[in-house]
Amino acid sequence: MSNHDEKFRVASREEDFLADTNALTSPEVPAGVDRRQFLIRSAVGGAAAVMTGCAVTPEEKTAKAVETAQPKAAAAAPPLSADLNVVKKGQGPVLTTVDEFYKVGPGPSSSHTIGPMRITYDFYQRATKLPADQLAKATKLQVNLFGSLSATGKGHGTERAALAGLIGHEPATVDPKFLDGLRDNPNQVFPVKLGGKSIDVSLKDVVYDATKGDFKHPNQMTVKLLAGNDVLLEQEYYSVGGGFIEWKGYTPPKKNAPKYPFRLMKELRDHADTNKTTIAKIMLANEMSISGKSEAEVYAWVDKVINAMVATVKSGLAMPEDDVLPGPIKLHSKAATVYKRAMDDKFEAERGLGALSAFALAASEENGRGHLVITAPTGGSAGVMPAVVYGLLEVRKMDRQKVREGMLAAAAVGYLCKHHATLSAAEGGCQAEIGVASSMAAALAATAHDAPSLVVENAAESALEHHLGMTCDPVAGYVQVPCIERCAFGAVKAWTAFVIASNEIASRHRVNFDATVAALAETARDMNAKYKETSEAGLALSVTLC
Ligand code: SF4
Repeated sequence: MSNHDEKFRVASREEDFLADTNALTSPEVPAGVDRRQFLIRSAVGGAAAVMTGCAVTPEEKTAKAVETAQPKAAAAAPPLSADLNVVKKGQGPVLTTVDEFYKVGPGPSSSHTIGPMRITYDFYQRATKLPADQLAKATKLQVNLFGSLSATGKGHGTERAALAGLIGHEPATVDPKFLDGLRDNPNQVFPVKLGGKSIDVSLKDVVYDATKGDFKHPNQMTVKLLAGNDVLLEQEYYSVGGGFIEWKGYTPPKKNAPKYPFRLMKELRDHADTNKTTIAKIMLANEMSISGKSEAEVYAWVDKVINAMVATVKSGLAMPEDDVLPGPIKLHSKAATVYKRAMDDKFEAERGLGALSAFALAASEENGRGHLVITAPTGGSAGVMPAVVYGLLEVRKMDRQKVREGMLAAAAVGYLCKHHATLSAAEGGCQAEIGVASSMAAALAATAHDAPSLVVENAAESALEHHLGMTCDPVAGYVQVPCIERCAFGAVKAWTAFVIASNEIASRHRVNFDATVAALAETARDMNAKYKETSEAGLALSVTLC
């Protein structure tokens, strides 16, 4: 058999699984379950099982349908609390800086791992400042996870991240092996030093609490220091997307004014055009004025991010081809296989497409392993930007300065999406993660190729536009299916957006970036709560694990 035949070889089907559709549904509707929903879910689950070749008994179909049937149709998500900074910030100029935005931390989800780890680390710091007599009474530390953190936290390893923060680990420096060790040996107990007191903590101190309720944000959690039943210190926190966190009573840190204030892409582009410069140069000036850093310091951070992105792609590609990702899906790694086979393709275009996809798969699989990734803008989307960065630097051998400038333009796109819409799948579905990442990567590619500011905007707009409405439905709550392949598609769409934008007549591009961000925000608000990182619908429901 030739390589080509081998590549396209599929398992033969000996029977027509869909010949008798009666077999797909479970006959009995259990008490207390909505009949219509039960029958639909039973049929969907059964059909998905036979189509994928799984043998599913009627009892298993019934159990799965009961497990996933909701008493009532899930409604649109409750609105976010108006006093959250993440809601208020859309009114003023963009003040985010690259060192806040591009964060290094453990996968698989910036809102479910990096955010919670930052939160419990923050609480630990606060607790250490309590008076010694209070600390002397402390007996227990407890973390309660709510909303999406509770619904899909198990698949994301939220409890391990939360525990790591409590015992003093920070996302950028935690050894992923420590988190893997917690997964493999969940009964470990760690002493936490608080003044003269030492309190033992373990995963049992992280409680998966209510998934539904009147929350200020869907990613809500509380952390408490207790003395018996008395609360010595308690703080309510929100993991608001991209690893950003807030807490009850949060006020954003005071920052210097930007040199070129903007709250819309139109204003940003006006600054670039009026000053006869680029979006990247305007962003550099703003980074320097807001943070007080020098140009060299800003670029030093950008270089760290670029190097980390290249490293995630390299380590993902270097994993053995038969590697299986952690979790119940038993998903085989495929980055190395796709890369090797694509390189054998006789068509150059397929080699390029295959390589770009493989780079995204590689970084995203690293995220799925819980290894260190870079939020650009999130962990779930952590394959998109690295794929394009790797392609530009390692394959196209582009001048690093061009890629640095691309990273600044990409950051501008991410800031604007954060400012006016969301980077959180629990608020806006996958359009807010992969969609924003793809838009950022399109701006990166265009900037690195010296495209004018309008072309950069058009590329970013196209990539975002064609992700609008994309839901978040990770199978079994693990950031693997659809997330890993979705990163590959995000990278390819980014490249397509760049190619279209640089070849069309830019002034005829009909949709502007700001309008598309407004559509992103509105679609996020209207999206049914089931499709916002709850694993209650979509692929999470129709894919049967066996
Ligand atoms: S489906 Fe998209 S948004 Fe949801 S976890 Fe996966 S990558 Fe993130």
